[in-house]
Amino acid sequence: MKNEGDLGPRALKATGTVYLVGAGPGDPGLLTLRGAELLGRADVVVYDYLAAQELLDLAPIGARRIYVGKSGSNHTLKQDEINELLVTEALAGNAVVRLKGGDPYVFGRGAEEALRLAEAGVAFEVVPGISSTIAAAGAAGIPLTHRDMASQIGILTGHEKPGKTNSALDYGALARLGTLSVVMGAENLPNILERLISAGKDPSTPAALVEWGATPRQRVVASTVSRLADEAKAAGLSAPALLVVGEVVGLRDKLNWFEKRPLFGKRILVTRTREQAGRLSGALRELGAEVLERPAIEIGPIEPNPPLAAALANLSDYGYLALTSPNGASLFLKALFASGLDSRALYGLKIVAIGPGTAEVLAGRGLKVDCLPKSFVAEGLVELFAELPRARVLLARAKEARDVLVLGLRNLGFELELVPLYETLIADWSGFENLSFIGYDSASAEEKKRSVSPNPIDLATLTSASVAEGLARHVPEGERPGVAVVSIGPITTKAARALGFNVVAEAKRATIEDLAAAAVACLADRPKPAL
Ligand code: SAH
Repeated sequence: MKNEGDLGPRALKATGTVYLVGAGPGDPGLLTLRGAELLGRADVVVYDYLAAQELLDLAPIGARRIYVGKSGSNHTLKQDEINELLVTEALAGNAVVRLKGGDPYVFGRGAEEALRLAEAGVAFEVVPGISSTIAAAGAAGIPLTHRDMASQIGILTGHEKPGKTNSALDYGALARLGTLSVVMGAENLPNILERLISAGKDPSTPAALVEWGATPRQRVVASTVSRLADEAKAAGLSAPALLVVGEVVGLRDKLNWFEKRPLFGKRILVTRTREQAGRLSGALRELGAEVLERPAIEIGPIEPNPPLAAALANLSDYGYLALTSPNGASLFLKALFASGLDSRALYGLKIVAIGPGTAEVLAGRGLKVDCLPKSFVAEGLVELFAELPRARVLLARAKEARDVLVLGLRNLGFELELVPLYETLIADWSGFENLSFIGYDSASAEEKKRSVSPNPIDLATLTSASVAEGLARHVPEGERPGVAVVSIGPITTKAARALGFNVVAEAKRATIEDLAAAAVACLADRPKPAL
C-alpha cells in the first residue's frame, strides 16, 4: 500500500488488508463507527445485495465498488470467486472492505472468506455488525427474550431443501426453545413450520415473517405456527426475510414503534444539492420515510470572481452583508478565507440572512446573524430592510436570482453592491437508474419486491425554484403532473406549478422542519402499503 516504508506491525498493510465489515440489517445508521471509518478510507468495497446504498457512499469517490451477489441462488460471482477476488485485491496492496449484511460471521459465509484469507496469508480484520437475526425482529416489535416468555434463543438457517433426510437441524430440540430466529427461511417456510409442529411445537405458538426488517420497506406478517405459511404467501412476502417463532412474537402488538412512524412506507425524493441534502433527508428518515437523494442542481462557484475580490478588499465600505442561501453563505466565507482574511474582517458589518438555514451555516463558523426576516423569502428581506438604517449593502448570492430584493432595496434608498457567488447547474443523473413516479399503491408486485429500491416515489421535495427547474430537466413534461411535490414556499410552488408538477403541499415557513411537517400532513392520511 502507500506506507511501504513503515516497519513494525503495520508493515503488514503493505500487502493490503481485508476488512470483513458487518453492514447491519439495512438501516445505514446501524453500521458501527469502526465500519464507517474503514469504509471512509477503503480502496475497494466488495458488497452484496443486502448492503445499503448509503453505506457505499461513505467510501471515497475514487474507491472501486464491486458488486458480487444477489439474493438466494442468483449469485453474480460464486463464493470461490469472491474469496479469490478478496485475496487478489489485498495482495495488490489495497485496503479492501468486504461489506456483508448483518454480522459477517452469522451465516452469509463470512467464515469461509476469512478462512481463505488466513490460508493465503492475507491480513484481515473482522468488524462485527448488528445481525438481522436480532435487529429485524426488534424493528418488527419483537424482543427475542422476555423474562416470562423466553430464556433461550435459537438462531438457525432455514435454507434446507424440502424432504432432506439428513437435516443438520434437530427439530425436537428446536421445538423446545423459547424463541427461534431463522434466516433464509422464506422459501422453505411451510416445511420448517410443519417440521416444528411434528416435533411437538404447539401450532398456536405466535410466529412472524419479517421482510426487509429494520429498513423503510419492512413488511411483517404475524400469525401462528400453523397459519403463518399461508398468510405470508398470500401477502407476497419473500426474501430477505426473518422468521421468528415464539411467545415473544405476541408482544409486537404493543411494541411496534417502527411501522407507526408517520412516514413509514413512503418513498421521498430529496432534490437539494448534495451538500445540503443531509438535514432534510435526516428529518424525513427520522419520520420513517425511505429517502432517495438525487440532487437536481449543482452549485458552480464563479471563479475567478473579480467583483467578489473587490468587495472583500473593501469590506469596511459596507454597513450590511446580506446572504440569501446556505450555499451563498458557505461560498462567501470560503472566498473570505481564500483571500487571506477571516471573520474578523466582517467586524462592523451587520449580517442579514434570509432564513434559519443560512443563519445556521454562519453560526457553524462562529458568526451570529444580526437580523432575520419574518418570512424567509426575498420579499421578507425587503420588509426587514425597510425598518433598518440606510447604509451600503453587500448582497452576495446566486447569479440568476430574482430581482425582487435588488429593486426593493434600491427603492428603499439603499446603495447596493450585487456580487454573484455561484451559478446553479443542472446535475448529471447519468449514473443513476431511472426514476419512477408511480405511487407505491399503484406499483406492481414486481416493483415492490425490488430490494430497497428507491422506485417508485410517493413524493418529491423541492426547496427552491431552481431545484424545481433542475428536476424538470430530468422528468419529461408529460410525466410531471404525476409527480406529487411538496414545496418549501410560495415562490417554489409557483415555479413548480408553471413547470407542470403537481404541488400537493407547501411548508408553512421556509424551513426544513416545516417542509418535513408538510410531507407528513399530505402523506400520513394515505394508506400504508397494503399487505
Ligand atoms: N449475516 C447476516 C445474515 C446473512 S444470511 C446477518 O447477520 O443478518 C441472509 C439472510 O439474512 C436473508 O436471507 C434473511 O433471512 C436474513 N436477513 C438479512 N437482512 C435482513 C433484513 N433486513 N430483514 C429480514 N431478514 C434479513
